[in-house]
Amino acid sequence: MVGLNNDLKHSRTSVRSCFACRKKDEKSSMLRLVVDESGKIWPDLLAKAPGRGFYLCMDESCLSSLNDKRLGVLRNKHKVVLPQWYGLQERLLDILSQHIALQLTRLKLGAAIGRDAVMHQMWKNAELLLLLAEEAGQALVRQVMDAVKKRGEAGLKTTSLNGLPEACLVNVFQRGKMSVVALSVSKKTAKLQRYCAWYGRIKGSKVSNGE
Ligand SMILES: [Zn+2]
Repeated sequence: MVGLNNDLKHSRTSVRSCFACRKKDEKSSMLRLVVDESGKIWPDLLAKAPGRGFYLCMDESCLSSLNDKRLGVLRNKHKVVLPQWYGLQERLLDILSQHIALQLTRLKLGAAIGRDAVMHQMWKNAELLLLLAEEAGQALVRQVMDAVKKRGEAGLKTTSLNGLPEACLVNVFQRGKMSVVALSVSKKTAKLQRYCAWYGRIKGSKVSNGE
């Protein structure tokens, strides 16, 4: 009986249902959102903010279910103000890019910075995480994505995020212009990879008011 209680307690604290798509997952791998006093929703990446929270699994199709109609379920429970999906999308991207910058700062010594250094990394066997700025020129994007394709054909894995604000990279690396960065994937890059994946999905998701 004690064992059963412990199991229940454990599952109550570590698994959550996704608010958008209702999939169950470990809460440590999900994005926590909190509602502030004025009824606005904010991402809580450290999962430590006080207040009523809910979770998103952030899988590929997850956010397509998160519109104001779905958020309306929270209206009475958490005093969520509607409509707010568009504003929420901006807030999520803004805070995620801050956390991406924070993670990048921790990892910047091992990063390949700029076109030449990144292209050089492309021929190494390591799994790569690639960040391309929103402002990157078409020629650079094409060159980099061609190399990613060739890596794929050679069985080498690359995770890429296109469309991060250049300011985010410029601040971290203290250079005037900063369009592309590559990092070898390791345990240390896990958080950064997760934030980058979330960023891409939020950015790519359609703004909907649910009507
Ligand atoms: Zn989900």
